[in-house]
Amino acid sequence: MAKISIDIQSGKVVKDSGIIIGIDLGTTNSLVAYMKDGLAVAVKDTDGKSTLVPSIVFFNEKNDVLVGDLAKDKLISHPGRTIYSVKRLMGKSYHDIQNQEDYFGYKIIDEDTESLVKIKVDQSYFTPIELSAEILKALKIRVEKDLDAKVSKAVITVPAYFNDTQRQATRDAGKLAGLDVLRIVNEPTAASLAYGIGLNKDEKQTIAVYDLGGGTFDISLLQIEDGIFEVLSTNGDTFLGGDDIDQAIFNYWIQINGLDMNVVQANKSLSQEIRLKAEKAKKVISKEGLFKETINNINCQISKETFHKIIKNIVQKTIVACQQALKDADLSAADIDKVVMVGGSTRIPYVKEKISDFFGKKVNDDLNPDEVVALGAAIQADVLAGNLKDVLLLDVTPLSLGIETVGGLMDVIIPRNSKVPSSAGRNYTTSVDGQKNLKIAVYQGERDLVDHNRKLGEFILKGIPPMPAGLPKIEIQFILNADGILKVKAKELRSNVETAIEIKSQYGLSEEEMGKMLMDSITNAESDMKIRSLLEAKNEANNIVLAASKFLKQNDEILSTEEKEKTLQLTEALKASISGEDKDLINQKMDALNEYTAPLAHRALDHNIASSIKGKKI
Ligand code: AMP
Repeated sequence: MAKISIDIQSGKVVKDSGIIIGIDLGTTNSLVAYMKDGLAVAVKDTDGKSTLVPSIVFFNEKNDVLVGDLAKDKLISHPGRTIYSVKRLMGKSYHDIQNQEDYFGYKIIDEDTESLVKIKVDQSYFTPIELSAEILKALKIRVEKDLDAKVSKAVITVPAYFNDTQRQATRDAGKLAGLDVLRIVNEPTAASLAYGIGLNKDEKQTIAVYDLGGGTFDISLLQIEDGIFEVLSTNGDTFLGGDDIDQAIFNYWIQINGLDMNVVQANKSLSQEIRLKAEKAKKVISKEGLFKETINNINCQISKETFHKIIKNIVQKTIVACQQALKDADLSAADIDKVVMVGGSTRIPYVKEKISDFFGKKVNDDLNPDEVVALGAAIQADVLAGNLKDVLLLDVTPLSLGIETVGGLMDVIIPRNSKVPSSAGRNYTTSVDGQKNLKIAVYQGERDLVDHNRKLGEFILKGIPPMPAGLPKIEIQFILNADGILKVKAKELRSNVETAIEIKSQYGLSEEEMGKMLMDSITNAESDMKIRSLLEAKNEANNIVLAASKFLKQNDEILSTEEKEKTLQLTEALKASISGEDKDLINQKMDALNEYTAPLAHRALDHNIASSIKGKKI
């Protein structure tokens, strides 16, 4: 059914397909799919070659964006401007990823280890949400070209282990790309749906979804009952996949040719050529038995037997993870009714054979393993569109529920479309030393600023014992019951002071009003996101200014006059930027202050440790 809608950018009336699309937003590749004549199909690029869009974003000097294959071409020539694997950064703080920093070829900013990471390209700063939105926009354009009509609604998949922040980040990316994200679906759930598993309400079964991609491995165990998918356990390795297999072949060739690895790796284009050859060998070896080619007199030869020998360890690692997942779910391999294969690396017959042996049954591998997640997302979208009547649809909250945080920002606690009943909580703290009371204002809506949302109520948590700012741990919990009544509880965990209110949410809003609130959130997503990142940068900068002045006071004797002056000067420059409206400038000034004070802070720490040890008997 086609609908009429208005193009947000041009204001023109356009044909909306009314189709809800399914998106697999992957670490290496992303895909978009939809239901065509009752069948899920993944959309190919305009020359009809591939359904995969490499999840890579490139920015040129003018900040123009390229996404997909065009961006992939820039990986070697412009590593600092070409962002890959952004999914690994979604909803992550620098603290979460600091051990993996070498993996990324681009600059990740670390001014505050607890806040969410940013990526620096030249003088601009991007969040993983903005970068993911670029990939989603490219997918939206691809499907709109294919349909010759607009799309505005989507289902997006995420790994089963994604936490609340990572899921919310994915939703925000969708919104920023101009998509109303109707649901975030677990990747293993989507893969099962693609095989028709779970579409029959009466079946109860336990499924293992084995997902071996280019750079990651996930095993998820699901239980399906009455059309509800429950994740029993997940396991895996975020740095294990086809890339490691390519590397194993690469290492083997270096060894049989008696070459020095350091010398080969120093030659970037040669090592890239060998890597690509290794990937080619991996793809054909199982069929051909022997692969034999050369690169500049380097013998690139491998037999099927050797291939199996060198990937045995990698496959064994995935089996150990499967064993652990079974153990965590209190199951044995025999309890698994079906095994679903996902990810390009499950095309390797040796992998299929070993996994089939481990679970003691034939694996489901009829569908293209790169596409199954996107196909399943399209099926889930079709269910949401009401086209598959027999499939159970759970009751969901129509709008997000959250509270106001510093700067008037909306912090979502229960996202829209969450199952009802549901509950969720998050910890907060105070922003002023000795703060005794905390006002908790509850809002409903999709906009980033609470002013644009609907206030449902507010209450005050009183009697917090005086503590320095940042020390109290205040847990705020939202409990939404099946009737749509929201109970909000706040508790200071160190002192156990608590209070609660009950709010009858949603009532009083008509469907149209709700539709308008949603539409507004998408129309304003870009400007909302700009305001949000500016306010967040200001909050962060204010914290850093405070920390810097504390640091100067506490370490007066350790620092030289020149160091103190320079720190003050950089702090003043940061303060000046806070009063402006340029988030990139604020970020630059934060960077400059951090970069200058980091070695001073190390020295102060060493000094303080040394003086605390001095005079003590050990
Ligand atoms: P994905 O992350 O799911 O897109 O998987 C990509 C990985 O699958 C890459 O490491 C590819 O080299 C690998 N792959 C694709 N086709 C094959 C194949 N025929 N045999 C082995 N590995 C493959």
